[in-house]
Amino acid sequence: MIPATSLTLRTLPDPVLRLVCEPVEAFGRPLREMVEELRQIMIRHKGVGLAAPQAGVAQRLFVGEIDGRRLCVVNPTLLPCRASSEEAVEGCLSLPAVEVPVARARAVEVRGWTSEGKELSFVAEGFWARLVQHEVDHLDGRLICDHAPAPGEPVLRRQAFEARLAQYRAFGYDRVAAARFVARTAGRLRGPALDVGTGKGLLARELVQLSLDVVSVDVDTSELPLASDLAREAGVGHRLRFLHGDARRLPFPSGYFGCAAMMDVLHHLDEPRPVLAEMARTLRLGGIVIVADFSPEGFRLVQRVHRAEGRVHPESGVTVEQARTLLEREGLDCVGRVEGHLHEVAILVKRPSGSTGDRPNRSHR
Ligand SMILES: [Zn+2]
Repeated sequence: MIPATSLTLRTLPDPVLRLVCEPVEAFGRPLREMVEELRQIMIRHKGVGLAAPQAGVAQRLFVGEIDGRRLCVVNPTLLPCRASSEEAVEGCLSLPAVEVPVARARAVEVRGWTSEGKELSFVAEGFWARLVQHEVDHLDGRLICDHAPAPGEPVLRRQAFEARLAQYRAFGYDRVAAARFVARTAGRLRGPALDVGTGKGLLARELVQLSLDVVSVDVDTSELPLASDLAREAGVGHRLRFLHGDARRLPFPSGYFGCAAMMDVLHHLDEPRPVLAEMARTLRLGGIVIVADFSPEGFRLVQRVHRAEGRVHPESGVTVEQARTLLEREGLDCVGRVEGHLHEVAILVKRPSGSTGDRPNRSHR
């Protein structure tokens, strides 16, 4: 049983918000206590509705309260009524400061169970209809930002991503294949894997395909909804953890990761050393680092695509070669340089203890 006090409000990018939740299988006291705890969290945060995943529980139930009327539905199913839809601005406790206009059916038929295990069936209308649809979205890992109408605001929409992929393909460059190529340059890897710079999560996804548990870190969460959707579609969401944070200060002990990878990130960094040093610190002895960025030809292509859109692609000028040198100073040995899919890749290994080098001591956990 989960102690009731263990539940807390989860906000993006907590990956639990992107899970398709499991049906509730047992009714009884633990469930009733959890429902009460969900209500408390909802009230404390001045919400009108709360779905279980918003409190870290990936199960299909939600609570709501409007004008003193309470509602709890377990394992809800929504049946469409013959009702038109209507657009209104919605907020969400899990996306503080985000407000998005969302079109919802004006009425829905709701079926499910109460927290006591009694069957439930009613037609929700008006604000209740909106609330119920919002909460059921949560149970399928959908958030209001996924309803955002304009590309890029507040997240890069899926269509824009697909369009860009197609555009690159027209120039002979396949981004998905490039991520696969990079992930496989070092042969067999051991996990857990660290992916620095999530972006759209393409490299993270490929690392999971190699049967690794992956932590993907990025300071920028703007593309996270897209990244987690892509991961979920690829069926790898359960092995991939997205972390919103600064890669220069990772919340992991020294020697934690079996491998670390970075793709198309270097050219965004003005000062790459702190990030590379942190990758080296959190890497286990014998662990592998893969650093990849565009080749000169790749950069020319990216600039061309950006220019066609009237934008300039920012480049700091930091190269894979410089990253290799910096990592060697951190106690790694370069064991390979490969090129392909418009990318340059350096592969390095953290020296096992006892080997020569200017860092004699095993880093401690
Ligand atoms: Zn919500």
